[in-house]
Amino acid sequence: MNIPVVKLNKGRERSVQSYHPWIFSGAVTSEKNFDSGSFVKVISHENQVLGIGYYNTKNSLAIRMLSFQDGDPQEIVRNNIRRAVEARKNLFTNNTNCYRLVNAEGDALPGLVVDKYDQILVVQITTLGMEKIKDFIISELKNLLNPNSIIERSEAQVRKEEGLSLITNIHFGEIPDKVLVTENGMQLYVDLNKGQKTGFFLDQREMRSLIGSLSKEKSVLNCFSYSGGFSVAAALQGAKKVISVDISEDACSLARDNLKKNSFTDDKKYQVVAADVFDYLRKENTNYDVIILDPPAFVKRKDNLKAAMHGYRDINRIALSSLTEGGMLATFSCSYYMTEQDFEDCLMQAARSAKKQVSIISKHRRALDHPTALAHPEGNYLKGLVLRVM
Ligand code: SAH
Repeated sequence: MNIPVVKLNKGRERSVQSYHPWIFSGAVTSEKNFDSGSFVKVISHENQVLGIGYYNTKNSLAIRMLSFQDGDPQEIVRNNIRRAVEARKNLFTNNTNCYRLVNAEGDALPGLVVDKYDQILVVQITTLGMEKIKDFIISELKNLLNPNSIIERSEAQVRKEEGLSLITNIHFGEIPDKVLVTENGMQLYVDLNKGQKTGFFLDQREMRSLIGSLSKEKSVLNCFSYSGGFSVAAALQGAKKVISVDISEDACSLARDNLKKNSFTDDKKYQVVAADVFDYLRKENTNYDVIILDPPAFVKRKDNLKAAMHGYRDINRIALSSLTEGGMLATFSCSYYMTEQDFEDCLMQAARSAKKQVSIISKHRRALDHPTALAHPEGNYLKGLVLRVM
């Protein structure tokens, strides 16, 4: 395949040689007289081939690399998909049938996420380069995995920066209103048509299991509970009470279904409350043994990091104040712009104003199906700490 060649300015090859998959427009010397979103061959100032990527001429994040070697672009995409699928083959037992098959840069497929929910695939595309080869990707996934259906949930706002509109589309097959999946033995309904993300927060699988195991005979408050994954995990491990709080009625209704599906029918013991967590925590002065805080990203843009840090501090302070002695707080941030250090600083300040001495007993355990490239720390959006109040 004959593809355009893009030359980088002197010295700008270094990050590519360290396998960082992003190249900004300022690094590029050559003319851009080709279709935006095309595959390109990237070469150094000294004409050394650095690899193959695709180029969006309208985005300052211009090139995303698919390979750090020369090759046929379509073959590279095909191989990267196969390799990603292969890498998941022995990760899970039949206790888990929902997981991420392709995790963007972590699988050398920037702009592409593919999640498997039993026999259904959910595809999410965030870049023009991937959008252009969507039909090829869908056909590869079909050949490789023979799923019953594929739905596309390309609804991330970042698509707008790529000049793309938001798309929700069933490519083939049928998508029932609710699909039953299994995660570490828990049975959970997911809403693949309208649910958040691709239907479920697969990236928290290991944490649901860890928090579950810490919840035996404890009273648990699950804040931002969505479809109740943490709640079911805690209930299954013998929590004596689990309260789930989420602002979305739809999420609460799914959480109730999920508790019932796992035989937790006592809706006092396993109460699901549709409320704003900030209001709820301020009003409620019950003491809990375990509190989970897994909010949506408070930092949507780099320039509102400060305001968002205030939000994280505030909510963590209130949560720490609502814990019993020896109680545990599992707290997360999925804000892309917030570093691990920012997050720990927030928690330190929250602990100081709550007048609680706390220790870290665990950090977020990465879900094994969500690899990130070593050279690409930008992929590590999810941070988490499990703290114990002394
Ligand atoms: N912990 C969940 C995922 C949480 S996603 C899991 O493991 O599946 C974040 C959730 O926060 C969403 O369900 C959203 O509806 C909810 N949410 C956002 N703002 C909120 C607020 N102010 N109060 C309560 N819930 C909120």
